[in-house]
Amino acid sequence: MIKVNENFLKIKNNYLFSDIAKRVNAFSSENQDKKIIRLGIGDVTRPLSPTIITSLHEAVDEMSKIDTFKGYGPELGYDFLIEKIIDNEFRPRGIELDKDEVFISDGSKSDTGNIGDILGVDNRVAITDPVYPVYLDTNIMAGRENITYLPCNKENNFVPALPKEKVDMIYLCLPNNPTGTVLTKEQLKVWVDYAKENKSLILFDAAYEAFITEENIPHSIYEIDGAKEVAIEFRSFSKKAGFTGTRCAYTVIPKELKGYTTNGEAVSINKLWNRRHSTKFNGVPYIVQKAAESVYTDSGKKEVADIISYYMENAKLIKAGLGEVGIETFGGINAPYIWLKTPNNLPSWDFFDILLNKLNIVGTPGVGFGQNGEGYFRLTAFGSRDNTIEAMERFKKLSL
Ligand code: PLP
Repeated sequence: MIKVNENFLKIKNNYLFSDIAKRVNAFSSENQDKKIIRLGIGDVTRPLSPTIITSLHEAVDEMSKIDTFKGYGPELGYDFLIEKIIDNEFRPRGIELDKDEVFISDGSKSDTGNIGDILGVDNRVAITDPVYPVYLDTNIMAGRENITYLPCNKENNFVPALPKEKVDMIYLCLPNNPTGTVLTKEQLKVWVDYAKENKSLILFDAAYEAFITEENIPHSIYEIDGAKEVAIEFRSFSKKAGFTGTRCAYTVIPKELKGYTTNGEAVSINKLWNRRHSTKFNGVPYIVQKAAESVYTDSGKKEVADIISYYMENAKLIKAGLGEVGIETFGGINAPYIWLKTPNNLPSWDFFDILLNKLNIVGTPGVGFGQNGEGYFRLTAFGSRDNTIEAMERFKKLSL
């Protein structure tokens, strides 16, 4: 008799986006004349920039010629891309990395989900609440049951406090999805120091790093002294350069980073991940890595920065528009997400229904990101400018 992995039966079904789709579909089939504005799902809407498209075309042409055709590439990524990442993302911030400390992958979702393969099942895991749901679900799938939730709410300014009990793995998503929170160097140092003291591992998801606009906010956890000994950093081209449908990301694992056997023997995490990645993954397509490389050309950098500014201008409009009608907002300054407190403390789903039915705007109920998201709501800056402006006009008609 074939047995299933029963851990998968323990995951709470996350119906968030399918529930949203159901409610939106029901509404639109009954109201076909109404234009719905979608500021819900965190996906980009601007097309890939011209430099990226040119580079993709050139790489496709290379694949058509006998001399330049590429079969399997290096599983861990092509050097040409890894070198550009180190030179552009880390060295200017005073962080030196070796090429074999950067692993190219098809996405941070896969990497943040798969990293647990090389970590013990008995580890106690700290997860901020609310947050990107992949961390919790993939730990439950792996059979990790010791979860410590770190509440983030208006009262603590969405900054998690250190856990009271000792934890082994700590997920920090900064800038945060969904709250848009960032930590200063001093605040992040508290976590690095905790991890050093407790021999814990920080899993630092910096998927929204490119959206940071304020000074003194670290873009990489390795800007904090000693972080190389305790942290893995996840980065992605998805939101930075519009690669959500093109797929390219990378994970940094410094060689200083050690995990431990039950006997207390230190083991290189970098070596374990190298083994795991090269055994279970066959590399990101050459054409995609060439496209990612072009993000670091002069024109690529400028185009990508312009698109990010476009989204962040939307974020400003949303914050200002909501402020005008007396809705309290958070985030939206260093992240493409605006996290808002629902008026009159309405439950997140009630507010969702009001926005859909009265204003024909779709957002994301905060409770979908964790219990502490109840009473909050997420809007994204990833819409078009026109839709963002129209959505804010519609908010003026909101009476609760
Ligand atoms: N990490 C966070 C915090 C995200 O919000 C997302 C996507 O929304 C991802 C990772 C997924 O990134 P990728 O597209 O590289 O898989």
